[in-house]
Amino acid sequence: MSPGWLIAICVAGVILAPVMAILISAGLGYLVRYERCPSCGEKRLRTRQFYEATILVDGKRAPDAWGYYECEACGVRLKKGIRDAEYSRPPAEEWERETMGARGGRAQRG
Ligand SMILES: [Zn+2]
Repeated sequence: MSPGWLIAICVAGVILAPVMAILISAGLGYLVRYERCPSCGEKRLRTRQFYEATILVDGKRAPDAWGYYECEACGVRLKKGIRDAEYSRPPAEEWERETMGARGGRAQRG
């Protein structure tokens, strides 16, 4: 193998590394954004709003977080907190209030 090839391979590696990093992070972002819908089974459940807060449990501060999710396949609207084992269906008025204008962003509360 000639030195020219080695240089070419090194240059290709330097160019490809950031491209691979972008592809990997994009793939992870896809996995994070879309979860399997418990209603229809499609992997199209998208986070519409996510809240993080500090709550009091037995007088001690504890972290809490919960999210609102909408399925792009069947349209079901769900809510799930970090302490919840299952998704629940929030009332329509709660959904409208908590996700108003939200496009999958994160918000701080409490
Ligand atoms: Zn669904």
